[in-house]
Amino acid sequence: MTDQRIKSSIDEIQWPAVPDPRASALLAVLFQLEQSQWWSVEKLETAQSAQLQRLLAHARRSVPFYRERLKNAPTAPGSPWDQDRWRTVPILRREDVQTAASSLVSTDLPASHGVLDEIFTSGSTGQPIRAVRSELWGLFWSAFTLRDHLWHRRDMTGKLATIRESGRDKAPYPDGAVSDNWGYASGLVFATGPAVSLNITSTFEQQVEWLQREDPDYLLTHPSIVHRLAEYCLEKGIQLSRLRQVETISEVLRPATREICREAWNVPLVDMYTAREAGYIALQCPAAEHYHVQSEGIFVEVLNDREEPCRSGEVGRVIVTPLHNFAMPLVRYDIGDYAEVGDACACGRGLPVLRRILGREQNMLAMPDGQMRWPLLSSSDLQAMQARAPIRQYQFRQKSLECIELRLSTLRPLTAEERETLRSWVRDKFGHPFEVSLTFHDELPLTRGGKFEDFVSELRR
Ligand SMILES: [Zn+2]
Repeated sequence: MTDQRIKSSIDEIQWPAVPDPRASALLAVLFQLEQSQWWSVEKLETAQSAQLQRLLAHARRSVPFYRERLKNAPTAPGSPWDQDRWRTVPILRREDVQTAASSLVSTDLPASHGVLDEIFTSGSTGQPIRAVRSELWGLFWSAFTLRDHLWHRRDMTGKLATIRESGRDKAPYPDGAVSDNWGYASGLVFATGPAVSLNITSTFEQQVEWLQREDPDYLLTHPSIVHRLAEYCLEKGIQLSRLRQVETISEVLRPATREICREAWNVPLVDMYTAREAGYIALQCPAAEHYHVQSEGIFVEVLNDREEPCRSGEVGRVIVTPLHNFAMPLVRYDIGDYAEVGDACACGRGLPVLRRILGREQNMLAMPDGQMRWPLLSSSDLQAMQARAPIRQYQFRQKSLECIELRLSTLRPLTAEERETLRSWVRDKFGHPFEVSLTFHDELPLTRGGKFEDFVSELRR
C-alpha cells in the first residue's frame, strides 16, 4: 500500500507495526478502498446502493424531516436499486437545510456511530448552514484524506506547509504555527514530518518570505493564492528548492494555475473537491488532471435542468448523498456547484470521472436574453487580458443585466487607450455589448471565508 512508516502502539515493536485501535480501524477502511477503486462500475454501484438503502431506511425512521419526504424512496436493504423511485425523492436545497434546522438531525443514532460534532459552513454561497456529523463519519473523512496522500505518492516524512487558516490571530505572520505531524488522520497512522501553517490573510509578499524560510516539501492552499504566489515568484525569480507538489482546495481551479505552478516552481498541482458538510466528493486521479468521485463515501449525481443525469461532456448541478453520516443525513443535497461529466478513466479505476468542477451557481453570468453562462477565463483569455494591460489581480462583478464592473489591481496606472481596449475585450469575451466599468484597487479583498472569487454576480436570483 505504501512505503510510509506505520506507527506501532506496542512497546519495542517497530516492524511490522501494530497500530492502536483507532489507527487500525482507519487502516482497515483504507485497505478496502485500495481494492474497491479497481472494481467495475457495476460492482461499485451495487455496494453503494446497498449502503444507500440503509441510510434511507434510517433517515425515514429517525429523522423527522424525512418521514414524509422519503415515503416512496427505495429503502429495502438487499433489494435491487430502483432508479425511478429514487428520482421521486426531492432535491434538498440549502434553504431547506436552513429551514429544517434540527428536524434534520436523527433522534436515534446508533451508539456505535460515536459522539456528534457540529460545524457551520457557507461554502462561498453566503448562506450559512449547520451540519451535524458523527464520529464515525470522521473516520471516513480521515480515510479519504489518507487516500489522497497515497494516490499522489506524498512522502509524509517531508514538511507540509498550509496557508488556509483565516481565524483571527491564528497562525499569524511572521511565525505562523508549527505542528509535529501532518494532522489528525496522517499523524494517527503514520510517522510524519512536521507541518507549518500561516494565516491566509497575510500579504502574498509575507507568504513568499515565510515559504522561503520554511522551505516545505508540499504546499496546501487555495488556487487563487497559489496563482498569485507563483506569479510573484516568477516575477522575482524566487525558487522554492524543496517543493515537490502543490495541493489545492475549496475554490474553482483554473487551468492556468496548473501551468503557472509548473512554470514558477516546476512542480505539479493536485486539486481536490471537498465540502465541509458533505466530505470528500472527488479527488484528482493519480494519472490524469480530472477527478474521480469517491463512491465509497458519497453518491454523486450530476443533473441537467430537467433533473436527468448528464452524459459525458455535459455540465450539470452536483447533487450529493453522503453515505455514512447517519447523524444528519443529507439526501440528494444540492451542493451549489456544477461539474462536467467525463468518460471512464484510462487508469482503470471504476470510480466515475468528473472532468471539471465549475463554480458556484451565483457566479454564473446572466445574459440579458435569460441565458446563464460560465464566466471562467481560460488560459488564453488570461493571456489576452494581460496583453492589453499589466493586471495583477482582477475580479468581475455583474452589477445588473447590462452592467459589469471589472475590479483591477494593476502594476501601474492604465492609459486611456488600455482602458478602452480592455472594455471592448470584456464585451467580446462575454458576447454582449455590456456596459463595462473599471475600478482600481491596491488589493482585492478575500471574502469573509478567506476565499477569492474571480467572478461575482450581484444579481438577485
Ligand atoms: Zn483515473
